[in-house]
Amino acid sequence: MADARPRPLVAGNWKMNGLRRDLVELAAIRDAVAAGVAGPAEVALCLPATLLALAAELARDVFSIGAEDTHPAPQGAFTGDLAAEMLADVGATYVIVGHSERRIGHGETDETVRAKAAAAWRAGLVPIVCVGETAAEREAGATLGVVERQLAQSVPDGAGAANLVVAYEPVWAIGTGLTPTVEDVAEVHMQLRGLLASRFGEGGAGVRLLYGGSCKPDNAAMLMGVPDVDGALVGGASLRAVDFLAIAGVYA
Ligand code: PEP
Repeated sequence: MADARPRPLVAGNWKMNGLRRDLVELAAIRDAVAAGVAGPAEVALCLPATLLALAAELARDVFSIGAEDTHPAPQGAFTGDLAAEMLADVGATYVIVGHSERRIGHGETDETVRAKAAAAWRAGLVPIVCVGETAAEREAGATLGVVERQLAQSVPDGAGAANLVVAYEPVWAIGTGLTPTVEDVAEVHMQLRGLLASRFGEGGAGVRLLYGGSCKPDNAAMLMGVPDVDGALVGGASLRAVDFLAIAGVYA
């Protein structure tokens, strides 16, 4: 629906993986991206908090750094949590919020996700808000209703192309090797684009919409070629530079 296509974004999500020795993968990604491997696409790596500061130093602004979650509050008595301000302080510019592993594994509601997205803005971060249906919801024919509700309730007022990324991640596709058909991805992304445009106007229409869920080198071109797909959120295949770069290389 948007006339000018947004700059594509290929973002990795390392989840609870990665030790300092794995920074060699990030160095390889940096060098390849600096050499033009990703073409016009922006590359981001969302990493465990333990690696953020080191990775930000290593990235030298060739790729962006993201965190994987944030607490809604700016500071306080929340043992073990991290404020968005802390993530920004060590060099993050993105933060994933509402990943299904947190919605399901940590009982996060749409309201929690919305508060986390607002916290990201407060700290100057861009939230990557994840939405997506479970296998049972898909089988019940509820996919479009589920993502519509998640989008409406997880994104705060005031969103636009500069301060929001949305990732459509069918829960059943994450880490399973299964992917939706291109028609299914196109249908969901078209709906997301339309909902963002009707709520936020032109700025909403320009929000980048990523596909995530078992995106690999051998299916990346197909998935990222779908209309209204502006890039990918990549889990397992982001852990090795060679695989991640093959995916980012779709845009070169
Ligand atoms: C994810 O968890 O965000 C993800 C996309 O995982 P994977 O690529 O491993 O399915």
